[in-house]
Amino acid sequence: MSTLFNDTEIAFRSKSKKQLLQAYWLFRLMGFPELTKIGTYLIKTALKLPLGLKKVIKSTLYEQFCGGETLDECQKTMADLQRFGVYSIPDYVAEGQESQKAFDLAMHQVLQTIDLAQSERNISFAVFKVSALGSVNLLMKVQQGVALSEKEQEECEQLDQRVHRIFSTAIEAGVRVMVDAEESWIQNVIDEWALSAMFLYNTEQAWIFNTCQMYRKDMPKRLQQLADTGKKRSFIPGVKLVRGAYLEKENERAEKMGYNSPIWETKQQTDQAFNEALSFCLAEDIALCIGTHNEESVAITLDLMEMNKIQSSYNGIWFAQLYGMSDHLTFNLAAQGYNVAKYLPFGPMKLSLPYLFRRANENKSVSGQSGRELELLKKELERRESLKH
Ligand SMILES: Cc1cc2nc3c(=O)[nH]c(=O)nc-3n(C[C@H](O)[C@H](O)[C@H](O)COP(=O)(O)OP(=O)(O)OC[C@H]3O[C@@H](n4cnc5c(N)ncnc54)[C@H](O)[C@@H]3O)c2cc1C
Repeated sequence: MSTLFNDTEIAFRSKSKKQLLQAYWLFRLMGFPELTKIGTYLIKTALKLPLGLKKVIKSTLYEQFCGGETLDECQKTMADLQRFGVYSIPDYVAEGQESQKAFDLAMHQVLQTIDLAQSERNISFAVFKVSALGSVNLLMKVQQGVALSEKEQEECEQLDQRVHRIFSTAIEAGVRVMVDAEESWIQNVIDEWALSAMFLYNTEQAWIFNTCQMYRKDMPKRLQQLADTGKKRSFIPGVKLVRGAYLEKENERAEKMGYNSPIWETKQQTDQAFNEALSFCLAEDIALCIGTHNEESVAITLDLMEMNKIQSSYNGIWFAQLYGMSDHLTFNLAAQGYNVAKYLPFGPMKLSLPYLFRRANENKSVSGQSGRELELLKKELERRESLKH
């Protein structure tokens, strides 16, 4: 593993001792599978739970992984990150909403982010989820080619208008925008929007970035097609490369409905596809944002950049981690002059619960991510303690 990421003084220099201790205990608690299971259940039903529990969630999981309830509340965190050369990608999290009013509100939150990014240079990208702007059921029907009712057609047009309003506002403001990837049963529709926006806007530089989930078996081929289309149609593809967040959901649905899962069978296959995609994107001059907490993948990218004589500050390559995770990567990359940002989720606590639930689950294995977080937090707490003697 690269030693570049082991400097905990740099990794945690934005954090007080109290914050480090809070994070340490939170990751320890998430490491108990039974507790995570109960916690997950409680989180899922939190709307009906007493105020006391909501307060606990707010001061633990929510504080660790979210920037605030509103964009305004995130400003202090964004300024703190920028002091150490780390950019922000404010991400309005409101999942599972179904009303047109909620979809409009979500669009306005993204437009506000774009507006702020125009004046504040600490925001490197705007981002949105298509499912926050329209109904998942509707997206599924469109992907399946099912005939839509008149009302559904109207809703589809409204969704199309929201997506295009975000793209055109971002372009006018000179702000790059990323489209998150979601479940495979709605992803084709999302890809079509992102691709048509790339045709239109990515002619001089990559303004629009679509997300490629490398846990999907078909993704290397899709990436190749994107590169080929870019050359044929003269646009610069923008790609956020991730492994993919919906593994269990994808596999469960495939099994239940009796089709082959679109996801690789092993983690190793996903890792290989991800790392091969890194060299592919660099060779094809695809504008990249590498969204990962995997140290090996980051180290591979740094090696590839060095081999290809690409400067650390080259604006066509960005790294990104989620707020509350892998500070050792983010802050050490920033200290070395690489372009790096934190995805900074914001939004009302009750709407952020599915997001928090995914983070808690991702960190439940002490042998995996949370083990690494714990090791580094402990190292830094001990280092600070040793300075007193
Ligand atoms: C900035 C940022 C933006 C993101 N945006 C999105 C997004 O738009 N859409 C989205 O889906 N996700 C997104 N993610 C989440 C991402 O897809 C991963 O779930 C998460 O980052 C963990 O993967 P990793 O590369 O960090 O690390 P690792 O811990 O090395 O990898 C874990 C990942 O490996 C894969 N995996 C694990 N076990 C297996 C297995 N048995 N078989 C096959 N594959 C396996 C899964 O994808 C799992 O999430 C984002 C992450 C970041 C940091």
